[in-house]
Amino acid sequence: MNALFLVKCIDKVNDVIIKNEKEIESLDRAIGDGDHFINLKRGCNAIQSINDELLPLNNSQIFQRIGMKILSTVGGASGPLFATFFLEISKTIKDSEDELHNFCEGFIQAVNAIKKRGKSDIGQKTMLDVLIPVAETLKSNSGNDVDRQKLLDAIDTEALKGVLMTKDLIPTKGRAASLGERAVGHIDPGAKSCQLIINAICILLKEIEVKK
Ligand code: ADP
Ligand code: MG
Repeated sequence: MNALFLVKCIDKVNDVIIKNEKEIESLDRAIGDGDHFINLKRGCNAIQSINDELLPLNNSQIFQRIGMKILSTVGGASGPLFATFFLEISKTIKDSEDELHNFCEGFIQAVNAIKKRGKSDIGQKTMLDVLIPVAETLKSNSGNDVDRQKLLDAIDTEALKGVLMTKDLIPTKGRAASLGERAVGHIDPGAKSCQLIINAICILLKEIEVKK
């Protein structure tokens, strides 16, 4: 992992968000206020606007800078939660040799920080229904002898399972909570955007593994 790779990740994330504008927007219109796509796009554009600033930084500084940028530009419930993710990862991530293990550790801690900040957990019809299963998968598969392609497949599968599960859940956090049972039958927008982002990064990482 390095600045160039992270900048590439942000571009891929931006692409997938733009490509799925209609779906993300309509999910948030159904059980929220319809601004989730705009919040995500604003975040991506803000990060892309500081690309040049990121390039000379080390991994920890990059995550920290991105977290601060999201915090100052993205509103809604999701903005501070995404910012928390990056700020927390920055505390763990190093320019280390044992990259996979280090990133997994950072990701798990970052998801825990979102739980704390959002006072939320799995099963409440939020982004955590995707992020927690992915963190659990990383927790049990970050050893040295791990098959990276298999791990990426497992992450992809868990994220997709998580997002589909949100359809049947009654929301108890965030804007959707006020709808109660009326939200059943709808996928959570934050869970969907996280799944799309994770999928886009998995695809990028698979391409890199194949080229190795
Ligand atoms: P807002 O709800 O303020 O309009 P967004 O539309 O950008 O903000 O984000 C909504 C998403 O944020 C939800 O779909 C949900 O996944 C996530 N979310 C909201 N509150 C929480 C929380 N307390 N913990 C975890 N995720 C949350
Ligand atoms: Mg919203």
